[in-house]
Formats: sequence, C-alpha cells, structure tokens
Amino acid sequence: IFLPHLMASMEVEESYIMIKPDGVQRGLVGEIISRFEKKGFKLKGLKLFHCPKQLAEEHYKDLSSKPFFPKLITYITSGPVVCMAWEGVGVVASARKLIGATNPLQAEPGTIRGDLAVQTGRNVVHGSDSPENGKREIALWFKEGELTEWTPVQTPWLVE
Ligand code: GDP
Ligand code: MG
Repeated sequence: IFLPHLMASMEVEESYIMIKPDGVQRGLVGEIISRFEKKGFKLKGLKLFHCPKQLAEEHYKDLSSKPFFPKLITYITSGPVVCMAWEGVGVVASARKLIGATNPLQAEPGTIRGDLAVQTGRNVVHGSDSPENGKREIALWFKEGELTEWTPVQTPWLVE
C-alpha cells in the first residue's frame, strides 16, 4: 500500500559525521566507520583532516556562549579528525541513535559513545542534528570535488 504521509518523512538525507581527535588517537577509526557502513548508509566523502580553529568555531558557533566552548575548540583542533558525509533515508536521526547520548555515561550500551567513551568532553564522534545542519556541515567541511556520487551494489538488498 502507498502511504504518502509516511513517504514524506522518508527523505534521502545527508549527515556530517566526524570522528573527533580522541577517536583517531585511540585507534577507533575503523570501528566507528564500520558501524555506519554495516547499518547500510552510503559513504559520499571521507578525509583525515587537522582542522583550523576558525573552522571549529564556525562548526560549533551555536555553542559559542557556552562555558565549555574554549575547551571544545581546543579539543576539536588538538589532532586530526576524520570527516565523513553519509547519505540515506533517515540517516540524520539514525546516526544520532547509533552515536548515542552526548554524555557517554548516559549513552546506551550498543551505541558508539555508550560502548567506547566515558566523558562528554571526549565523546569520540559528532553527528549532525538535523537534515538542514547535515547539508550545512558537509558544505562547511568538504570542498567542491571531495564528494563522490556512486551506486553501491548492495542497494537492492537493503531497500525493497
Ligand atoms: P552532540 O550533538 O551530542 O555532540 O552535543 P552538543 O551539540 O550539545 O555539543 C557538542 C559537543 O560539545 C559535544 O559532543 C561535546 O563534545 C561538547 N560538549 C557539550 N556539552 C559539554 C560540556 O558540558 N562539557 C564539555 N567539556 N564539552 C561539552
Ligand atoms: Mg550537536
């Protein structure tokens, strides 16, 4: 049966996912990427990148008035991060679930933060909080030509 009201919420979205410097330093890159890969989302962009302060401040500008903002910028610029663009139906909310709560001690076991981290200030991964921010953040972190359009062969085995 065709359910147009459900279809409307089944948009193909993009999420900006970033493995933070602690995730890179702790050797968790493969582990974290594999969770999104195994779920069935499509990787469209991937790079290791040591981000400048200005970019970190732009990315987190909504938090600029928070007391922890200077520490957050120091953390994010303290070493290379892994920048990723992931695409899929509902990828934004699903990625947030895979990542888990901001405070890793409150994140459910089975989530990335729940399994791999203990502190908010070292919570190993970022995920966009809305489809709009997904687009904004991918445009912010990736340059023209760094994203790749392709068709995974597994698609018909993931979606009917
Ligand atoms: P997220 O969307 O789950 O990443 O959480 P937020 O958007 O609220 O915050 C962005 C990031 O800022 C978090 O992932 C943490 O790295 C950091 N952060 C948030 N709250 C705190 C805090 O209370 N203390 C510290 N040190 N960092 C925080
Ligand atoms: Mg956030």
